[in-house]
Parts: sequence; C-alpha cells; structure tokens
Amino acid sequence: MSEILESYIAGRWIAGTGDGRPVHDAVTGEVVTRVSSEGIDMGEVVAHARTKGGPALRAMTFPERAAALKAAATSVQEGKDELYALSARAGCTARDSAVDVDGGIGTAMVYASLGRKGLPEGTVVVEDDFIQLGKEGSFGGRHVLTSPHGISLQINAFNFPVWGMLEKLAPALLAGVPTIVKPATPTAYIAAAAVRMMIDSGALPEGALQIVAGSIPGLFDELGGQDHIGFTGSAGTAAVLRRDPAVTERSAHFNAEADSLNASVLGPDAVPGEPEFDLFVKALVTEMTVKAGQKCTAIRRAIVPESQLAAVADAVRERLSGVVVGAPGAQGVRMGALVGTDQRADVQQAARQIADAGTVVFGDLDSVDVVGADAQQGAFMSPVLVRIDDADRPEPHEVEAFGPVSALMGFRDADHAVELLARGEGSLAGSVVSADPDFVSAIIAGAAPWHGRILVLDRDSAAESTGHGTPMPQLVHGGPGRAGGGQEEGGLRAVYAHLQRTAVQGSPAVLDRLG
Ligand code: NAP
Repeated sequence: MSEILESYIAGRWIAGTGDGRPVHDAVTGEVVTRVSSEGIDMGEVVAHARTKGGPALRAMTFPERAAALKAAATSVQEGKDELYALSARAGCTARDSAVDVDGGIGTAMVYASLGRKGLPEGTVVVEDDFIQLGKEGSFGGRHVLTSPHGISLQINAFNFPVWGMLEKLAPALLAGVPTIVKPATPTAYIAAAAVRMMIDSGALPEGALQIVAGSIPGLFDELGGQDHIGFTGSAGTAAVLRRDPAVTERSAHFNAEADSLNASVLGPDAVPGEPEFDLFVKALVTEMTVKAGQKCTAIRRAIVPESQLAAVADAVRERLSGVVVGAPGAQGVRMGALVGTDQRADVQQAARQIADAGTVVFGDLDSVDVVGADAQQGAFMSPVLVRIDDADRPEPHEVEAFGPVSALMGFRDADHAVELLARGEGSLAGSVVSADPDFVSAIIAGAAPWHGRILVLDRDSAAESTGHGTPMPQLVHGGPGRAGGGQEEGGLRAVYAHLQRTAVQGSPAVLDRLG
C-alpha cells in the first residue's frame, strides 16, 4: 500500500497527485503510504458539504441522526480488526489500539444514545421556560438552538486517528452539520480506513462526511460565520490557525485542544504501604507507557511530598523495569513504538531539556532494548523518569516531551502543590491521589481554574475508575490556557456547541408554540 492515500471528497475516493509525503511504518521503517492532497479542489470539498451534506442532515430529525451515527459506529466496530492491524504499523500495541479504536467507537455509541434519549423529536432544541421580561407577563423570551448552514472542519492530531475523529464527528452529526476530516499525516491511513467503513456502510447521507488526506491549502478561505473548526494538535499550530481571517474576521467558531503538561499529585497521607501510594505509581507508569506516552492527557509531572521523592522514584523504577518495549504483538511487549523516527527525535530533544534540569532516574534517552524489531529502524524509545530536585525550575512545567517521559518533583505543602500545578499554565487533566479529604478539597479548590478535568483517585473508587488519561464522553474534555482554551465532549454540550443559540422574544403564546 505505498501508493498515494485516497481522500473521500464529493462522493468519490480520489488520490492526490505528485510524489506525496511518505509515511513510514513505526516498527520497520518501511513506507506504508504516501500522502498528498495536490490537485484536490478545496472549494469543491466545502461546496459539496454545504450543498449536499448540510441540507440532507438538516432534513433529518435528531433521532434519525442518532440512528445514523449508531449505524456508522457499528460499521467501524465491525472493521475493528483491520484498524488494529493498521494501528500496529503506527507502533500501537493491542492495549494502545483499544484506547483509540474501542475508545472512539464507545464515544460515538454514547453520543448516539445521548442523542436518542436527550434530544427532542424534531430538529430544534428549545431552552428555558418562559422568561418574563415585562411587568404584566405578556412579553418574554426563550432560546432556540438550530443547525447552522455551515460545515465542521475537524483537524486531528496523529495520536488518536480513530477516537479523535469520532469524538468530533459524533456531535457534529447530531447537530446536523456535515464534517470534513483533516487527519494528521502520520496516521492518516488509519483514519481513512475508518472513514471508508462508514462510507461503505451507507449509514450517512452523501456529503455528511468527507476526508482530505494531506494539507488543506485554501480551505480556510471558504469558511465563515456558519462554520465550526475543531482543532486538535500542538499549541503552535493552534496559534497559527486561530489567527486566520476565517476566525478573526469572519467569525468561524474555533475550538482548540492543544498540548498540556498534566500532573498527578500524591497526598501526604499516601505513604508506602497505603493503597493510594501504589495507585499513584501504577497510574504514572500506565500513563508513561500507554501509546508510548503519546497521549495529550498523559502525566508529564508527578508531584509528590518532598519526603516521598526517593520512595516514589524507587517504586516507579521497579515497575518500569518490567515494561518490555518492542514490536506490537511480539512476546511480552507492553510498550510499542512512537509514531515515527522524526517524532522520536523531537521527543528526545524535549526530554533532554527536562533531563538537564534534573537527574534521569530511569531509562536512557538514546538507547533501549527492543523485542521483535530493530531499535533504530523502528521509532522505539525507553520510558524515561527524570527527578527534578528544584521543583521551581521552569523546564518541567514548560517543555512537553510527547512520549514516555515524566518529571518527578517534590512539594512542601498543599499550597505549594497547587502552585506547581498552576505552573503548567492550563492542563487537560490533573489527578490527586489521596484518601485525605481535606488535602483533596484543597487541591480541587486551588487547581480547578487551571484544569479541564480533575480525577481523584483513592481506594474507594479505584476499581471502577476510568483513570487519569481517559476523557469520558459524558464529561468535558479540554483545558484552559496552554491546553487550548477549548471544550469538547461533555455530553450534549458538544452538540449544543455546534448549534446556533437564538433568543426569541414575544408573547407567551408565541413562545409556547416553540416546543
Ligand atoms: P500538529 O503538528 O500541531 O498537527 C495537528 C494537526 O494540524 C495535523 O492534522 C496537521 O496536519 C494539522 N496542521 C498542521 N499545520 C496546519 C495548517 N497550516 N493548516 C491546517 N492544518 C494543519 O500536532 P501533532 O504532532 O499531530 O499532535 C501532537 C500534539 O497534539 C501534541 O502536542 C499533543 O499534546 C496534542 N494533542 C492534544 C490533544 C487534546 O485533546 N488536547 C489530543 C491529542 C494530541 P499534518 O499532520 O498533515 O501536518
């Protein structure tokens, strides 16, 4: 499959021209495919979504859209094995693929269910009872939410080609807005395979879903105030895109999910021997190694009482030493490869900056023992834990090494822990691992303004806990500041975010008829 990856636009699969950008197998280094959008007319893509997909979706009721979403997600479920096999070429173990593929399908299914149960029969959501605005009660207001006549451009990061796509597609579909997916180049072939399953299933009306593999020059020029751009990726790319006149002059909605230096805090009560100590260590190692640490929510900073630094370092080291790195599927392998050798070079460089601020207490930045593959041909890297003795150094709070790298540092008291959490300048996910309710409350109250989500982990909830790194579709995913300032998911909030909210004013009789 090393020819140009096809895009699905205006009802047909079409390959871009030119040589394309080669995408390499993360494990063997072979070329998997080439990505090019050269020759694809972005105006045609947008026009097709506007003239075919939009009207077709808007003509469907919320329950009909929910049923279509469920059927589309079912087709991906049926093709799961193929997606697992493709994901292995991107370095993913079966555990990693479960997070992306099953996580994506599960998210779409939750949205189908929320759409069926939580949205009205028709095409309009009415909010609020009559809000009286006049003295006598003959005049008031309510809000209606309707589908804009626009498109949803979804620009995704490489690390979640399936989940990242489905968590954006689901609310857009329910909102009656057609989607154009722009997958990240390194894993575009996985996203395209999932799109092919949904298109072949016939679940969606034509024009409701298109995918452009490769760059999208000129596409933003087509966008304006009825359109929604959902971006996931680095803070740098987000900054470039949010300056586009489509956003700054024509008011296209722009939602960004960017990088973040998520942290986990160990409570002073959680000394070795307490269940919370083990929960903390286990969660940290899981977050460092699942998807080889290429998760936007992974724990980059482990913040523990100063008195526990040595004990935590020892326990993490012991657990990490049992993690076998190698080819997905090879005997005993628990951690796969990074997505590519370029990405590995970026991670090594960032990790070096963090290491310069402290001491590497586990792993090696430049070498790793690998099972079932060649360590240099494939994009393998050892998990790396860096102990930072001066927690106030800037590096661990500012540098994102988007791989299996975490920094361990100490705090003096709850206020200091909150101060360190806030040094991330805005995170997607934080956790506090403690059974001390006062400490937990202090961390939540102090750190919430800097976080999109805070997980409290203790012995009572551990068995059912979904973990630090897993956004749940029912809850908000996103974070302030550095994390992009956006919000996704959060149940039906994500659907409402795609709808136009209009205040309607009039008499009680007029407003009553709205629904
Ligand atoms: P990236 O380099 O910023 O790319 C993200 C997406 O933007 C890709 O699809 C990329 O396409 C596209 N892109 C780049 N320049 C563009 C332009 N001028 N116009 C339109 N699209 C453009 O990020 P990445 O390397 O894929 O992902 C890693 C980063 O994403 C990490 O920093 C991670 O923390 C963050 N992330 C955040 C979340 C979250 O939910 N907050 C989730 C996952 C990842 P090409 O690949 O074709 O260049």
